[in-house]
Amino acid sequence: NVNVNIPTSRPKVCPSIEAWLAQPRPLLIDGKWVPALSGKTFPVFDPATGEKIADVAEGDAADIDLAVKAARRAFESGPWARMTPSERGRIIHKLGDLVLEHADELATLEALDNGKPKHVARAADVTLSADMFHYMAGWATKIEGKTISISALAAPGVDFFSATRPEPIGVVGQIIPWNFPLLMAAWKLGPALTTGCTVVLKVAEETPLSALRLGELILEAGVPAGVVNIIAGFGETAGAALSAHPDVDKVAFTGSTDVGRLIVKASAGNLKKVSLELGGKSPNIVLADADVELAIQGATAAVFFNHGQCCNAGSRLFVHRSIFDRVVEGVAAEAAKIKLGHGLNPDTEMGPLVSQVQYDRVTGLLASGRQQGATAVCGGAGVGGQGYFVPPTIFTNTTPSMRVVAEEIFGPVLVAAPFDDVDDALIAEANNSIYGLAAGVWSTNTAKAQSIAHRLKAGTVWVNCYHIFDAALPFGGYKQSGWGREMGQAVLNNYLETKAITTRLG
Ligand code: NAD
Repeated sequence: NVNVNIPTSRPKVCPSIEAWLAQPRPLLIDGKWVPALSGKTFPVFDPATGEKIADVAEGDAADIDLAVKAARRAFESGPWARMTPSERGRIIHKLGDLVLEHADELATLEALDNGKPKHVARAADVTLSADMFHYMAGWATKIEGKTISISALAAPGVDFFSATRPEPIGVVGQIIPWNFPLLMAAWKLGPALTTGCTVVLKVAEETPLSALRLGELILEAGVPAGVVNIIAGFGETAGAALSAHPDVDKVAFTGSTDVGRLIVKASAGNLKKVSLELGGKSPNIVLADADVELAIQGATAAVFFNHGQCCNAGSRLFVHRSIFDRVVEGVAAEAAKIKLGHGLNPDTEMGPLVSQVQYDRVTGLLASGRQQGATAVCGGAGVGGQGYFVPPTIFTNTTPSMRVVAEEIFGPVLVAAPFDDVDDALIAEANNSIYGLAAGVWSTNTAKAQSIAHRLKAGTVWVNCYHIFDAALPFGGYKQSGWGREMGQAVLNNYLETKAITTRLG
């Protein structure tokens, strides 16, 4: 009983976007749109139909090197290096405005390239991207050091004045995934620009289009040449070259934990700074005293939003035994209502997975769940046919060692288990993961929920809500979910060095 409307071909979009897609999309290096030095391009596909939608220049190590040189020049000299914080802030703010002005176009590209519903891309991805630029614009003028009184070498007649001066870290390599292509670009670019860094951004090979269009808006906003360079290309070539490049001062990565490890190794050559936003397998805990209807809605959205392709997806549901059947049946009923289809169809609530590779990974994990004895309450296998559609799936009768329980699936798959008491065993089970990105707690007793939140090893805990993101809130992981925080004031640390300057007085 899968609620799916499989498209036969991709809907046409407005003529200006069709014209943009019809041209091979170049790379942005030193303020100019250029083909790859190798002359190579690669196709990108509509994941709902498998049709090619565009050809994109395929950057590799040589293009990365050119881009890093441009970013270095822009960092060391030129208008960006001389710009006041206020001028920088105004440009970043204007970029946020331009994102909103082009919201419909950016949401269309996101739906075509990633498969997500356009109305979701408009309401979430585009809005949050603009908000990130607007929020970060404000920080440009508020990055401050402090004065510090020192004691160690004090002597009669000798005095010192000591102060810290935060400075931009330099040339930053940024590597982003395909699940929120525009938003991940905004999360990365916003803080790098506000701190005065320059950037080489490597976009995901599955979904390069919205970030390339954003590059055009970046130039329109007045970001000087070389400050933001955008390279489309593959991980093993362009991504690896960027993370190993000896003239990159810092690399910021979002993606899988396995590739995060490769980034750390590649960065060892010049010991560049690294921040990582990686995977998750987040617990979502429903207590016996929860508002059951709210928890059902919340648990559904926690795991099925963005087709489960969220690092923070609430993919492990723990429900008090007294309401377990009611909550699981409720989530299954909500899942059955979710309409699968093309992201450009206004009725669509869930699109396809992003690629054949992800379809094979997720359906392989579904098969492992069935083989290892889990019960599929709904879903449980791919839809088949064209496009990479996987229906919402809920597994019960699971054990902690099953792959569907232990591994990040990155698809619309929930595992649900009952518990009897809010005790150490429940907290231990919720924390029983290599990851520690997010968690949810549902209870009408907020004190109890708060104390559970304190005991969960996760960078974000939502109480009676889920997926609440804001540019002002830090986001990132404990354990193997990452290093450092995205967003909020906390992200500025990823892009700043602290210099202590001491002056002898008198
Ligand atoms: P990935 O980690 O392979 O790719 C993310 C980015 O890293 C892409 O731009 C890719 O080109 C680049 N990359 C790949 N290999 C690289 C290398 N050797 N050196 C430098 N860069 C490299 O992720 P994926 O294959 O797109 O997805 C696989 C899994 O990653 C998913 O199933 C999911 O578990 C996880 N994932 C997590 C997030 C997140 O936000 N935390 C996002 C997407 C995917």
